[in-house]
Amino acid sequence: MLVVIHYAEIGLKGKNRPFFEGQLLGNLQRVLDPLAAPKTVRSRRLYGRLVVELPDQVPFEEVSRRIRRIFGVAHFGRARSCAPQPEEIEKTTVELMTERRPESFGIRVRRIEKRHPFSSQALATRLGAAVQAVTGARVDLGSPDVWVDVHVLSDEALIRAEQIQGPGGMPVGSAGRIVSLISGGIDSPVASLLALKRGCKALFVHFHSHPFTSAASQQKVRDLVALLAQYQGRSRLILVPFGTLQQTLVQETAPGPRIVLYRRFMLRIAERIAARNGAHALVTGESLSQVSSQTLANVDTINRAATLPVLRPLIGLDKAEIIERARTLGSFEISIEPADDCCSYLMPRRPATRTRPAQLEKIERALDVEGLVEAALARIEEEEIHAAD
Ligand code: ATP
Ligand code: MG
Repeated sequence: MLVVIHYAEIGLKGKNRPFFEGQLLGNLQRVLDPLAAPKTVRSRRLYGRLVVELPDQVPFEEVSRRIRRIFGVAHFGRARSCAPQPEEIEKTTVELMTERRPESFGIRVRRIEKRHPFSSQALATRLGAAVQAVTGARVDLGSPDVWVDVHVLSDEALIRAEQIQGPGGMPVGSAGRIVSLISGGIDSPVASLLALKRGCKALFVHFHSHPFTSAASQQKVRDLVALLAQYQGRSRLILVPFGTLQQTLVQETAPGPRIVLYRRFMLRIAERIAARNGAHALVTGESLSQVSSQTLANVDTINRAATLPVLRPLIGLDKAEIIERARTLGSFEISIEPADDCCSYLMPRRPATRTRPAQLEKIERALDVEGLVEAALARIEEEEIHAAD
């Protein structure tokens, strides 16, 4: 089985193109290799496309399901190979289209080997006429039912009459590493996925209050990371015990700005973890004005505790849009499972909506910030999470 893959924006990247293509090929091999015997899945570059060859008995359904999670793929489909002569190409194209029976079609020819004695245009016209004569389908170069992509190489031609939508984006890993702050909630898994879509590879960090709360939030986060691992491969999850720190803050500070204070500590700890792991940014599931800690004033106050960029992919999305994406990812059902991720006494009844940086700095001057951060870091645990099914 041959699968021809068209990629998204990578084509624009000039001299970096081989790097992006290499990353994409590696990511494809990672998900496709387990479907067949060792070394039987082969992939190669093809002048702005990628071709994967798999044993015929591998079910295409499964191949397709996996490729649809590889960021960087614009669209893909099975292809047939034949000799690069016009008669052969015509025969194979007509065969394919007789099986497909579309109402309309368009033909796109790319001649990679320019020495063949026919032009791309002449070949496209010839193929179009032949398909029309045999199937009765009409030519439509706007939005046909089926696009037929013909690649003519020096010793073979590849014909693809199937176009399955990929997820777009950039290959995971091509942008570098980030630390994703993941709670058990609805938002952060969606934020992580959007960061992955732009080529980031995420290291996940979760703050839990166990043993003050049950361990349920940790299991939820493991399940969420397993879903995200379908997109980026085996993933690391760092569990940070946060309960003792929260308890100290509850004893020593006023309740109003406490959530903002927790968040500032989370950013500080996450930033240390980022530094140890070569990550260049933090990612959160914050959106604007969704809850009290996400007013613009509080986002400002929280943000100042970090020196790394804090990416907030959801910043402009409505809750309904976020939920829709969570459903597509499959995380929604997990996120809404109840878990006492933070016991009520750690949460103020009326969180402040308009904190100021100076106010928090003053509160923190009375605390041993460094000692609290170090104490939490000393007790972190790390797990490897495999992709769900
Ligand atoms: P989510 O649905 O992601 O939990 P939320 O709407 O509940 O978000 P907040 O509770 O204000 O919003 O959290 C904002 C962001 O802070 C989260 O999206 C996440 O990135 C980070 N965060 C909050 N709590 C935790 C936690 N326990 N561990 C790791 N990150 C957290
Ligand atoms: Mg939350």
